[in-house]
Amino acid sequence: MGDTAAAQLGRLGVHTWGDLLRHYPRRYEDYSKLVSISDVQLGAVTIAGTIEKIAARRSFRRKLTVTEAIINDGTGTVKAVWFNQPHLPKSLPEGTDVVLSGKLEFKDNNLSLSSPLWEKAERSGTNTGRILPIYPETEGLTSRQLRGYISYVLPLVSGVDVEDLLPQTIGVSHNLVSYFEALKGIHAPETSDQLEQAEHRLAFEELFLLQAASLLIKQDIQTEVAPRISFNQALAKTFVENLPFTLTDGQRAASWQILQDIDNTHPMNRLLEGDVGSGKTVVAAMAACMATTQGFQVALMVPTEILARQHATSLAKLLKPLGVDVALLVASEPKTERKVTEERLSKGSPMLVIGTQALLTGSVKLPKLGLVIVDEQHRFGVGQRQILKQKAGSLPHLLSMTATPIPRSLMLTIYGDLDISILKELPAGRKKIITKVVKASDRPSVYEHIDAQIGDGRQVYIVCPLIDPNDLTGAKSVKAETDRLQKTVFSHRRLAALHGKLKADEKQQIMDQFLAGKIDVLVSTTVIEVGVDIPNASIMLIEGAERFGLAALHQLRGRVGRGQHQAYCYLAPASDGATSVQRLQAMERTTDGFRLAQIDLDLRGPGQIYGLRQHGTLDLRFAGLNDTELIATTRAAANSFVLDKTAMLQYPHTMQQIHALKAVTSLD
Ligand code: ADP
Ligand code: MG
Repeated sequence: MGDTAAAQLGRLGVHTWGDLLRHYPRRYEDYSKLVSISDVQLGAVTIAGTIEKIAARRSFRRKLTVTEAIINDGTGTVKAVWFNQPHLPKSLPEGTDVVLSGKLEFKDNNLSLSSPLWEKAERSGTNTGRILPIYPETEGLTSRQLRGYISYVLPLVSGVDVEDLLPQTIGVSHNLVSYFEALKGIHAPETSDQLEQAEHRLAFEELFLLQAASLLIKQDIQTEVAPRISFNQALAKTFVENLPFTLTDGQRAASWQILQDIDNTHPMNRLLEGDVGSGKTVVAAMAACMATTQGFQVALMVPTEILARQHATSLAKLLKPLGVDVALLVASEPKTERKVTEERLSKGSPMLVIGTQALLTGSVKLPKLGLVIVDEQHRFGVGQRQILKQKAGSLPHLLSMTATPIPRSLMLTIYGDLDISILKELPAGRKKIITKVVKASDRPSVYEHIDAQIGDGRQVYIVCPLIDPNDLTGAKSVKAETDRLQKTVFSHRRLAALHGKLKADEKQQIMDQFLAGKIDVLVSTTVIEVGVDIPNASIMLIEGAERFGLAALHQLRGRVGRGQHQAYCYLAPASDGATSVQRLQAMERTTDGFRLAQIDLDLRGPGQIYGLRQHGTLDLRFAGLNDTELIATTRAAANSFVLDKTAMLQYPHTMQQIHALKAVTSLD
């Protein structure tokens, strides 16, 4: 292999034979059945015949070389056409027996094979007449070349050279072909059966390794020692009696599970999942109350300072009457106040402290930390747990809360380390948000409706994808849209712009004014996405809606409909294009976050939705997350594997891979 080829392969991440063999095909074309020319149909075909005529000519109009050949197989003739391959007539002189694979098209009143792959009949088989793997390509390196390299390497390696990551016993008991067999089946399948077996084997391995990784995380956490927070029944009762509402069944069940978990010397690692507005905060508050009254410190971390303030206000209302000390610790607080709080924390005073991630990354000391709650995050990552352990001396109990519903299949595969509580129902009396996808022509009536709502005393969110105008994408920006609306349709209304480039205190000021009813229309980026609670806001217009995932749209929509008024959500795609509109229409049909997440998962894959792509390689090449049967089988296999110490020692390479995956499945 020459230097150029090596460089080209390097660009594909292929440096060794092993890498080359793990460079799997992207798809296949089935040319496995040879047909006679008299029987050909349009589409993928393979024919074998003799070159009757071949000639190359320059096409000046199109500035390229066109080579045309007539092939005869005794039953008929067909034309083949190639572009920019001027040397073909030399390689395939008249009289050569060839095998051609390609797409048969009907063009200019002629049947022709357009740029077919070819091989001389005496050595056909690598590129033609088979189920043809199509590889991810790079500049200057075609599928054809890759097939050549791989067909060169495959016969040279044996089962001993390629490492099987799946423990042998598992492969045998599940009737799987070996990794080596799977490689042959993937790169050079002779039958579609063989290909299927290979794909099944590789899918099994992917799911097995992922699940083993998340189960090992679970084991790791269970070996840690956490401070025990005893269940105080009288206190739980007082807490519930002091609420201005009755808990939903889901809230009661989740609280019970959490209070059980923390009454234990092993750390809780639980995810509380519930749609926007389902009332997760109060569940967390009850646990925080239980901990602080027993002398522990509790940290509640939220994504933004706006949310931290909002939580501090509402939790103080809830918890101060019960004697719980509630403190806010964010950068925008006055320095002197921050200092007081930090000093009390470092002395070990029991309290609930609310802040952003800076609580973790900063120098704040939390010697009595017993429970950590993260809002709007799926889980604690390895790094976060490490820091917490250092701060607290031992790993505290962990509670994550999210409004993003995680479909069951994902839950089992990469979230297998977590225990889950789900709040299925919303508190009684909430009205369904009326959602509508709007066309460009609907815009005037949408603005009229918005104006009428403002007239009734309601408030409005308008969400734009960008902060500043950007001519390249043409998407609406907060700044330009605020100006435009203020000058035109809403010149008589009070508008404000909110986005991530504003300083924390500026953002806070705007939110305070909005909450106080001094702003009618808040034009914003998705900074309002998580957690913001303004009951008087009843209508939302989302611009460039097609740019957002359904799960994100659902979260945004949850900002309205939090009060007693009927709420509306308008989704305005940038153009009336059919595909985006179709996807958005799912939002009209359902307000069930789980269903929307499943649709998103089906349409866009897990990486995009759950931010997994940035975090490494949740690269499910073969496994589908819809294959519940395979997920269940592999989970059982992974479970017995991670319980078997001898097996784990026996397969160090498997373990190495699983440890690498632990970092991937754990988002920091
Ligand atoms: P989320 O799950 O989105 O974080 P919150 O905890 O912010 O939801 O709760 C949303 C609103 O519902 C809050 O104003 C809260 O006081 C209220 N709430 C919570 N639980 C109940 C309940 N059981 N009945 C009525 N209102 C509730
Ligand atoms: Mg919340």
